[in-house]
Amino acid sequence: MRQIRRAAVIGSGVMGAQIAAHLANVGIPSLLLDLVPQELTAEEQKKGLSLDHPAVRNRLATEAIRRLHKLSPAPLFRADYAKLITPGNLEDDLHRISEVDWVIEVIVESLEPKRQLLERIERYWHEGMIVSTNTSGISINAMVEGRSEAFRRHFLGTHFFNPPRYMKLLEVIPGRDTDPAIVEFMRDFGTERLGKGVVLAKDTPNFIANRIGTYGLLVTVEEMQKGGFTVEEVDAITGPALGRPKSATFRTLDLVGIDTFVHVANNVRQNVTDPQEQRAFEVPEAIQKLVERGWLGEKSGQGFYKRVKQNGQRQILVLDLDTFEYREQKKIASSALEASKQAKGAAGKAKALLHGGDRYAELAWNIVKRVLVYSAEKLGEIADTIQDIDAAMRWGFNWDLGPFELWDALGMVETAERMRAEGLRLPSWVEDWIAAGHRAFYEEKDGKLTMPVNGKPEPVRVPAGVIDLAALKKAGKVIAQNTGASLIDLGDGVACLEFHSQNNAIGPDILTMIEKSVAIAEKDFAGLVIANQGKNFCVGANLMLILMAAQEGDWDEIDLSIRQFHRAMLALRYSQVPVVAAPHRMTLGGGVEVCLASSRVLPAAETYFGLVEVGVGVIPGGGGCKETARRVAESVGPDDDLVPALARMFQAIGTAKVSTSGAEALAMGWLRETDRVVVNDDLRISAAKAEVLRMAEIGYTAPPKAKEIRVAGRDGKATLQMAARGMWNGGYITDYDLHIAYKLAHVLAGGDVPADSLVSEDYLLDLEREAFLSLCGEPKTIQRMQHMLATGKPLRN
Ligand code: NAD
Repeated sequence: MRQIRRAAVIGSGVMGAQIAAHLANVGIPSLLLDLVPQELTAEEQKKGLSLDHPAVRNRLATEAIRRLHKLSPAPLFRADYAKLITPGNLEDDLHRISEVDWVIEVIVESLEPKRQLLERIERYWHEGMIVSTNTSGISINAMVEGRSEAFRRHFLGTHFFNPPRYMKLLEVIPGRDTDPAIVEFMRDFGTERLGKGVVLAKDTPNFIANRIGTYGLLVTVEEMQKGGFTVEEVDAITGPALGRPKSATFRTLDLVGIDTFVHVANNVRQNVTDPQEQRAFEVPEAIQKLVERGWLGEKSGQGFYKRVKQNGQRQILVLDLDTFEYREQKKIASSALEASKQAKGAAGKAKALLHGGDRYAELAWNIVKRVLVYSAEKLGEIADTIQDIDAAMRWGFNWDLGPFELWDALGMVETAERMRAEGLRLPSWVEDWIAAGHRAFYEEKDGKLTMPVNGKPEPVRVPAGVIDLAALKKAGKVIAQNTGASLIDLGDGVACLEFHSQNNAIGPDILTMIEKSVAIAEKDFAGLVIANQGKNFCVGANLMLILMAAQEGDWDEIDLSIRQFHRAMLALRYSQVPVVAAPHRMTLGGGVEVCLASSRVLPAAETYFGLVEVGVGVIPGGGGCKETARRVAESVGPDDDLVPALARMFQAIGTAKVSTSGAEALAMGWLRETDRVVVNDDLRISAAKAEVLRMAEIGYTAPPKAKEIRVAGRDGKATLQMAARGMWNGGYITDYDLHIAYKLAHVLAGGDVPADSLVSEDYLLDLEREAFLSLCGEPKTIQRMQHMLATGKPLRN
């Protein structure tokens, strides 16, 4: 079976280094090669190095790997994964590519150097080795002219978006001669191993996302100038109001680099043949002027916006395209914009804006209609399906809805009528589709979503293993439900507990459902998955409920809540069937406690995991402290000192440390060897389901009740408290942080018992509950909770 065990990335610039990093993220070692420097740096001269020294010859790649650690957001799941990248250079090391299964070319965006490099690569090519290019828009076929047929069969485009770890899109572009089996392999590999959303693009200038995206940006500038709008007005309309990212139009250009944008637009203009389309890709004068002045955006300190400090205050000024001067941004009064803000969901927001009836609504419509028609015109030329176009725009430009999805949301037929009435010509396939009586591009048929393919509805492609909880609920698979959570039948004897409260915060409703779900699973299922497809897995316990009880001094209420939390967590831990938690994104406080209580955890690659309770003035109270103490005791040998391992966890909880990835959560000690990261978030729930089935099949037995947990006792507590005092002395934590840290140390060490005492789980839970309750009685804790609820940020009082 074809596999990619090792890779080579050629070109260690912005993209190459980060692609190598992402390969490392998924466990694939790579060679990272770049040019040999022609001159010594001052530092190399000082060290007495010559141009033939390996350190000098490998400098570009070595430096690129070093820079990975400074990039934000971090390209590596864990800093130490950088070890999987081996730096080298194209003169001494190119032969080593014969050892790899995949070579990806990521050098300068220019045809000739790419061609020459591919010629050199072919010298070391062996049957089966895949070679691809990360070009943003150069012809794949042109690049391999002159290469052997065998080589061309193994060559294709794999276009990652920047930053490759975070951007979901991977455009796979077959060349004329690419072996279809390799295209299929890359599609599966990109999806399952690299965690990307893969679309198939055709070998046309700028492929899918950049072709439509660039067109959209140019249309936006044109409509803006026609209507006399300002930069900030356009950004207000073309951002979240239209289901697009906050960076909207001009902030996006500033981030991408205005010169890069011009380069991309020119590439289309120079490579398409239709004069009207060539005109559409002409770069407006204002943008050219910015490039001439070197105002290229973020990288040159100014573009459409400029950050300044005025009267000691940070400010972002905006460029006035009439005067070419920066000025303060003006507030925008628009009822359409207001209506969009109030509306719910991307479709609702876009509809509210476009039907808003003021000049801003008109601007939005004038932009949108042209992008929709252009996308429809390009079907067949840049991609075979509307699904590929929609997905490319969602994953590559972070739009909430692709063009055809938006068109459907606005009403396919009505929108087409309005377009025609305004003199737009729709492509014949759209007219035919409407004439055939269809009411939408995407239609449901026998429970399956279809789309037009050659005039007929065909099922949309769903990669194997994608589970859609919303669709299952619609199909009547709900077993039990309350306001906070639902238990859903995933099929094959596995049930899934889905949280769906506000922010997925845990309140009594979810806790009730946890206990109920375990009981149902034990009776009727092989096991239970805990996962959801909300924005975040769970942001913690419902703080509002705790705060209200604390303000009213209703200690019994809080006491009962903690007991309920503990009961639910114990139900998970001692469930007779396996429970697999599959968290994603923010997994904080109570969300972590649910994971710690589960039999296994399969976090998404992007999981930000941490016990952050001190930020709201308490310590973990849902079994998090008990579970930490228990795990530490289990992780060391019977005669080993507990304190070093305990101190690490104490520091993580005491400073509310959150992992920057699922892999880091493992490294921080929150997860176990048996837990593993699922790179593609779309496959997370099916991976958890498979895990449940595997565990059930080999015979799952619940862990024995923890009656004798070895604890560090009063000596350990003193050591932890001393460490906290050191942080306080150094000014790293406040008086109140220290107060909380003392309580935390008390609970984690098992209270005032002799070192290495054996205590029960219930005893540790009691300690945890008492400490939590006492902190709820403190005014500074109340202030912290209020602040968090009001601002979403911790207060360090
Ligand atoms: P870059 O300029 O940051 O890096 C290019 C690297 O290639 C440099 O390290 C350079 O030393 C090396 N190089 C230059 N000429 C070479 C040659 N003749 N032989 C070997 N190495 C050479 O560029 P980048 O932004 O990383 O882009 C690389 C490729 O990825 C381009 O094809 C680009 O279009 C594409 N791309 C870039 C982005 C992006 O956002 N930057 C996004 C998607 C695709």
